[in-house]
Amino acid sequence: MAGICAFPAWQEQGACRGSSAQEFFPPSANERRDEKRRRELRAKSICARCAVRDECLDYALQLRDVHGIWGGTSAIERRRMIGLSA
Ligand code: SF4
Repeated sequence: MAGICAFPAWQEQGACRGSSAQEFFPPSANERRDEKRRRELRAKSICARCAVRDECLDYALQLRDVHGIWGGTSAIERRRMIGLSA
């Protein structure tokens, strides 16, 4: 049985495969608000056509991962979903 830390098989089907991680996660240096908004919209547009979006979001919520774009949601959106302050 695969544990939560095992590489989930659904990731093989993600529409983001081959995309730059820079679209889905913020840079280590400061990112302006308008740059962040545009980056997140680009990432979400990829998620919108992803066949495993639900699995991806469930995984991020289960891990309580509040960094980057997962399942078409931003970190702030997931923080709200799991009851953490945004
Ligand atoms: S929902 Fe988005 S982040 Fe998740 S696998 Fe699909 S394209 Fe990648």
